[in-house]
Parts: sequence; structure tokens; C-alpha cells
Amino acid sequence: MNTCVLWLRKTLRLHDNAVLSAAASYKNFDSVLPVYIADPKQLGENFEKYGPARLRFLIESLSDLDAQFRERYQSRLIILLGNPREIFVEFAKNFGSSFTSLLCDYSSDPWDRENFSFISNSLTKKIKNIQISSLGAVHTIHDIEKTISHPSFKNPKSMKDMDKIFSLQFEKNQHGFYDIENPIEPPGKIPPLPNLAKASLDNKASKLHSLSIPEFTDQVSAKIKTDIMSTPSYFIGGETTALARLKQKVSGKTDYVNSFRKPRTISTNTDREPNEPTTTGLSPYISTGCLSARTLWKECEKCYMQGNHAQPPESLHGQLMFREMFYLLSRSVDHWDEDRNNSMCKVIDWDEYDQEKMDAWQNGQTGFPLIDSMMRQLSTTGWMHHLGRHAVSCFLTRGQLWQHWKFGRDVFDKNLLDSDWALNNGNWLWLAGVAPFSMPYFRLYNPCPDPKSSLNVESKTADFIRYWIPELKKYPSKYIYEPHLAPQSIQSESDCIIGRHYPNPIVDRKTTSKQNLAKFKDSLARNK
Ligand code: FAD
Repeated sequence: MNTCVLWLRKTLRLHDNAVLSAAASYKNFDSVLPVYIADPKQLGENFEKYGPARLRFLIESLSDLDAQFRERYQSRLIILLGNPREIFVEFAKNFGSSFTSLLCDYSSDPWDRENFSFISNSLTKKIKNIQISSLGAVHTIHDIEKTISHPSFKNPKSMKDMDKIFSLQFEKNQHGFYDIENPIEPPGKIPPLPNLAKASLDNKASKLHSLSIPEFTDQVSAKIKTDIMSTPSYFIGGETTALARLKQKVSGKTDYVNSFRKPRTISTNTDREPNEPTTTGLSPYISTGCLSARTLWKECEKCYMQGNHAQPPESLHGQLMFREMFYLLSRSVDHWDEDRNNSMCKVIDWDEYDQEKMDAWQNGQTGFPLIDSMMRQLSTTGWMHHLGRHAVSCFLTRGQLWQHWKFGRDVFDKNLLDSDWALNNGNWLWLAGVAPFSMPYFRLYNPCPDPKSSLNVESKTADFIRYWIPELKKYPSKYIYEPHLAPQSIQSESDCIIGRHYPNPIVDRKTTSKQNLAKFKDSLARNK
């Protein structure tokens, strides 16, 4: 009996899943065990490292994948809660020599690489002739290890550098596009599950007890003391919704895709729909692995073949190139998530953690409606537009509050549905003004934007602000981004007195931006 354990880490999908296709195509597997491991080290012992929206999205994604395995392959997704290292020791014990193969998707995150190398070593010692592979270019378009070990590879700092890196790995086809392989179709069938009872997977007392979706959901709800499935959400997790959103926003939507220029998209979402992004809104699905980046790339390419189209860095291909750039850097640059010993980060003497400022920022209580609406959207739905992320990260760091970018990064990490170690760190480095690819540190965003601001806020109806800050629902649009400037009579008529019903600005924005620019300059000189 040959059993292949299929460890799905960032591939919660059937389409373009090279790991699944490999398991289906090897003729010598009698059984395949598709496994997802929920690791308390990543999620928190009490799931406290993930916000409710993120947890819910994960459960929905697992549930969708499980349903697809059942329906298409008469199989199921085995969900295990525990330390992957210990789980694989149990697999080796329970399956013995019938555990002949481990297949998983490559992950460049440091703890995933460490776990994989530990598990490979330990299994090789325990099981003679076991085959172990981690497949690259599944979560990213590039094979990260192959790309960074190319003799001409240099850490990219710009889109021009990324263009060179793409051309090292891919030829151009007759249409002038990089010859990136088409996504793989889901396999027609896969080998059946092994005997679960024999491996104690159905034994509640075993470390390998496989949790059903309701059991996992109940455990999460009990630990966070909230019925997770009744928490608010906008994006529904899973490959099925990912593919539906791809179809709704991108596939065949030539006008939208070809004219997509990121800096022109509106940060306050779609008119009259305060939850619907003006960008694709696909990031939660790509980060969780419900949608492959290559599939999005190829769908854009089909539209581009129809006529004139935007170019990187502003186009959708440009967005995916940024994604590749941060993945490559996060692997090639040591201490990517630190400011010390990180060759891509200038050291700035930020203030100590300030509880009051952090609470106000995180809870949407700074008295700056743009910042507060964005942060309330984040904590409720787990998503925020890219320019909203620009506004709130600049405000927290070099703009107004002078807090370390790592504090903001951690709040994002907990709450974002699309939270991604490589991208979150890369973008915070970018916005804090400390990286070589950052915008100049002295270009600050005004947190009280006018219609001309590059933050592209909608300010005629200001529906987005009214939705997320109901306290300001009745304010005239003229004052909505700076309500403390409204005369007392208007504050009274609008049923919201600033300082009583909605906070006064936590800082004087003009004074702090001036002071912070000076501090930034000083730090640069001191820490040269
Ligand atoms: P679109 O504009 O429709 O782009 C399509 C896809 O391209 C996205 O889904 C995403 O996979 C990729 N992409 C777009 N912009 C970027 C970018 N700047 N960097 C890398 N990839 C990009 N994105 C994450 O996926 N995870 C994060 O943890 C994350 N943290 C961020 C933190 C900060 C401070 C900032 C400023 C940005 C962060 N981003 C992160 C990048 C970006 O904001 C989101 O990817 C984007 O807003 C997602 O929306 P969308 O899918 O509609 O994007």
C-alpha cells in the first residue's frame, strides 16, 4: 500500500494546483491523503493571532475545499490542529512504511521553510525510501528558489528590475507577453483516501484526529468566545467564490482590465456600495491560495490581447509583478520583517509603543474620518483599499503618530484577510519611507484629503465615511473629512458634537507632520 500525504499549505484550491495534479498523475499511489494543518503557533493557542473576519474566511475556504474534494473525488480534506512537526511524527508512526510520499506546495515564509526542512530530515530517518517534494511556482509565478539562485539575480528595487527578472525566467511569446504557462486544470480523479481508522484519523483521542468543518468551527467559536459564523463579513472564503469574483471582475471584462490603473482607483470603494472594492478584491483569495496568481495573470493577458491596455507598474500585471517582487525580496533579504540587519530598511528612531495612540488608530477613533473609516472597515471586514492602506500607514508612522511600522504591520497581520508575511512587511517598509523602493519620505499624505488628493477619495456624497462612521451621517460633505472645523451650529444640526460624539483630532496634523519630517531627517543623519 503506497500512501501519499498531500500537505496543502497555500493551495486551498483545485485549479492550478500542481501538488494535487502531481499526486493524481503518479501511477504508484494507492491512496492520497489531502491534509491541512492549522498550526497554533501561527493562529495562536486560542486563535488570538487572527481577527474574527480572518478566521471566518479561513474556515469558509477549508469548508469549500472539503466540499469539492467530496463532490469531485469522493475524498475529503483532513483538517488537523497541531504542530506540523509532531503531526508528521504521528503520520510516520501510524502509517509506517506505507507512508511512501509527502508532497506539498513550497512556501518561502521562514517558519514554513524551517518546518519543512525539519520534517524532511525526520521522515527520511524514520521511513526508508520516502519521497518528499515541495513544489515551487505554485503560490507565485516564479519559482522563488530557482529565481534567486540565478547568477544574474539582484535584489529588485523597481518595476524595471522586475522586468529584468521576468525576462531571466520567461521568454516573450509572439504577442509580446512573457511566456508564462497556462494554469493547470483540476485532475479528473485522484486516488482514494487511505484507511482512516487504521491511521487513527477518526479517533478523537489521537493527535491525528481529523476535525470536521463543524468541529473546527466549534473549537474556534469556543476559544474566541464568539459564534464565528455569525460575525460580520463581506468576502466569503473559498475557491468557488474566488472563481466567481474573478469572472465578475476580470475574465472578459476588457474595458475594466485594460484601463485598470491602480493610482486612479478610488480608495473609498464603489459608489453606493461601501464594501465593494474598485480594484479586483481578489487579494484575500490569492493570499489564502483559493485563487492562483497565474490564473489572474493569464485572465488579464486574454483581455490585453484585445487592444490597448495599461502597463506596469499601474496595470494589473504591474500589481502582480509587485507581488512577485516582495516574494523574491522576502526570501533573499535577511531579516525582512525587522528594521535592524535588514539591507532594505533604514533605521529610524521611532517612538516607543504608545498605547493610547495605537488604540485610537486601531479602533478608528483618531478624530480623522478617513483614517477611522478605513480602520473600522479593516476590523469589521478584513479588507481595505490599497490607497486606504497608504493613508493609514503613513499616518501611523512618518505622517502623524511616529509609531514604528512594525506595530501597524502586526495590526494588519491579525486583521487582513489577505495578510501575507512577504507582502505585508514589504508594503509597510515601502510606506514607512524606509526602503530603497519607498516613495520619498517627505511626501506625506494629508489625512484630511480634498478631491484633488492622490488618495482618490469620493467626497461628494462621502457615502463611505457615513457608512463606517455613522456618528457623522448627517454632516455636510464640505466638513466630512475635517468635522472639527464645522461651526458649532452645524455640529448641533448634524447631531454630532466633536469632542463628545466623535473625537477631536488626536494630533494637530500640520504640526506633527512638520515635526516628523525633521525627526526623519535627523534619524537618517544619525543612523547613516
Ligand atoms: P488589485 O489592485 O486588484 O491587485 C491584484 C492583485 O495584485 C492583488 O490581489 C494582490 O495579490 C497583488 N497586489 C496588488 N497590490 C500589491 C502590492 N502593493 N504588493 C503586493 N501585491 C500586490 N497585500 C496582500 O495581499 N497582503 C498583505 O498583507 C498586504 N499588506 C499591505 C500593507 C500595506 C501597508 C500596504 C500599503 C499594502 C499591502 N498590501 C497587501 C498590498 C495591496 O494593498 C493589496 O494587495 C491590494 O489592496 C489588494 O486588493 P486587490 O486584490 O483589489 O488588488
